[in-house]
Amino acid sequence: MHSPDTIFHKILRKEIPATVVYEDDEVLVFHDIHPKAAIHLLFIPKHFVASIADITPETAHLPGLLILKAQKFAKEKGIDGYKLTFHVGKGGGQEVPYLHLHFLSEQKL
Ligand code: 5GP
Repeated sequence: MHSPDTIFHKILRKEIPATVVYEDDEVLVFHDIHPKAAIHLLFIPKHFVASIADITPETAHLPGLLILKAQKFAKEKGIDGYKLTFHVGKGGGQEVPYLHLHFLSEQKL
């Protein structure tokens, strides 16, 4: 089965612009285009998985990786209050079928 080509694949390949705030070998972090808080970032792994619903023992480290990156980012930016959310499936409000962690805070970057 081919993996889908989502908007986040295109952002990763820099085919469409995004306001990237952090990137390393494992993750890309960028501003959500429709922010729902003063800071609304999306943390995505470079390794593609569609959703928490598709996590297997082989990819079970990815949600933890995103959480660790979010924790490190918050510490470095002095953000001590934030919300982390995974939407899972259409019924869970997931629009983009590429695993992502929402990071929301009312503090300023
Ligand atoms: P979901 O609802 O799938 O959990 O979250 C997808 C998020 O991606 C939404 O909050 C939406 O605003 C954001 N989004 C959708 N398309 C784009 C885009 O082209 N660029 C950026 N930066 N964010 C997007």
